Amino acid sequence: MKITRRSFFGRSGWLTGASLGLPAVNWAQAAGESAAGKMPRHIIHFVADGTSMATITCADQLSNLLRERGLVWLELAQRRDAALAWVNMRSLNSLVTDSAAAASSWGSGSRVVNGMLNILPDGRKLKSLYELAGQAGWRCGLVTTTEITHATPSGFAINAKRDDSEAIAAQYLVREVEVLLGGGRKFFEAANRKDNRNLIREFAAKNYVFLQTQADLLQAPSDRKWLGLFDISHLPYTIDHVNDPEDFATIPSLAQMTRLALDRLRGSSHFILQVEGGRIDHAAHNCDAAAAFREVIAFDEAIEIGLNFQRQEPDTLLVITVDHGTGNPALNGMGTEYRQSPRLFAGLMDAKCSFPALQAMIPKAASPARIREIIEEAYECRIPLEKIVALARFLDKKGQTLFDLMNTVTAQLGQLLGNYHGIGWASGVHTSDYVPLMALGPGAERFRGFLQNTEVFYHYLALAEIDYRNPSAALLAEGAPAADDVEKSAAYNSFAWA
Ligand SMILES: [Zn+2]
Repeated sequence: MKITRRSFFGRSGWLTGASLGLPAVNWAQAAGESAAGKMPRHIIHFVADGTSMATITCADQLSNLLRERGLVWLELAQRRDAALAWVNMRSLNSLVTDSAAAASSWGSGSRVVNGMLNILPDGRKLKSLYELAGQAGWRCGLVTTTEITHATPSGFAINAKRDDSEAIAAQYLVREVEVLLGGGRKFFEAANRKDNRNLIREFAAKNYVFLQTQADLLQAPSDRKWLGLFDISHLPYTIDHVNDPEDFATIPSLAQMTRLALDRLRGSSHFILQVEGGRIDHAAHNCDAAAAFREVIAFDEAIEIGLNFQRQEPDTLLVITVDHGTGNPALNGMGTEYRQSPRLFAGLMDAKCSFPALQAMIPKAASPARIREIIEEAYECRIPLEKIVALARFLDKKGQTLFDLMNTVTAQLGQLLGNYHGIGWASGVHTSDYVPLMALGPGAERFRGFLQNTEVFYHYLALAEIDYRNPSAALLAEGAPAADDVEKSAAYNSFAWA
């Protein structure tokens, strides 16, 4: 449901019951009988990529404004049978993990170096969760809003370097994952691959149906495996998808992909499905509050689909978690007695596009006045020209801040808009936050307290009655930060002229 700011204020005034945090449903009463001690036949692993605690908080607050209800994710935490945990997601070589090492910790029970998928530093390949589960007769699925070859989905099935997207695409063919839905078509097409292999044809030879549009997905046959690649690269940000429905009419939402994947897998006696809200992380790398919080709400709609499935199939374990923080945004206390904060925050409802979509609208060598016009139109705010002049220095790569990680255009654009929305950012990179994990359903009782990321893998194996242990490596000593690593993270934020 799309609610404009005007209709919101006109209809309900500023504080609604929902924004006071009142639950829509009394989950404590609604909770079914305890599933403790039972074994699941289905596991759905929801992961919000790069989602700091305040990203969840702010998404819940924005959800109250946009949907007049908070996140289902947080409502579920009130259920008596919800198991809640904190998880240390560190990687083998850093307190700050990347998505590859994070997903590998769940996918093989071993910590690896950032950038690697289920391979130890000495080259030993670890058996992945989907390889082991597949051998034990479990069907496997991956659903994401990023390229399907991206680190988080790959971490459950693949041994490779995270950057080797072409090798990852080819490995999916060997792993025979039942359902693959996301983006990244370019890594499967002969014309775009260095080896000129036509992977789409090779998947078809293995009984896969190739899906390119929402219509394909809606009609996909249930007796074939699914390779759904709905965009060349990542799927669009929700904020752009919602505000420009015509351009993206053929692309399904995360909730829709989740619903259809579950329908497809429903007939299997045992299955495990990973559902990733992958672009929360990308928006947070850009310090793009409106895009990030909208992306969490879209992820929450997918959780709702999983919850409905669990109501129909009670032997389903739902796990909802995060792989690491990114950017660590926060709504700050603004104005006298912080009274400005709610009003400024509500301005996020007016944001019309993501930062990359804004970038596409700014012509090369545009004057500060023109840049101001475009930003003011996109975010409905009034910006003093001197602030645009300061921003333009970063567009010309001549800007300097005291904290080097903020020397990117997107980080500066995020800071600039912070004056109008109240949101500040710690950086545009990953953080070492311990992350929340919630489990519901049979087996949930294993996921309580403070966990190490690697334990999640062994809980899944135990619940699937698989007896196996991967080797692990001793934690590598913390070295001094390498300069090239810092540059790499800044490059991730690069903001080119249209
Ligand atoms: Zn991640």
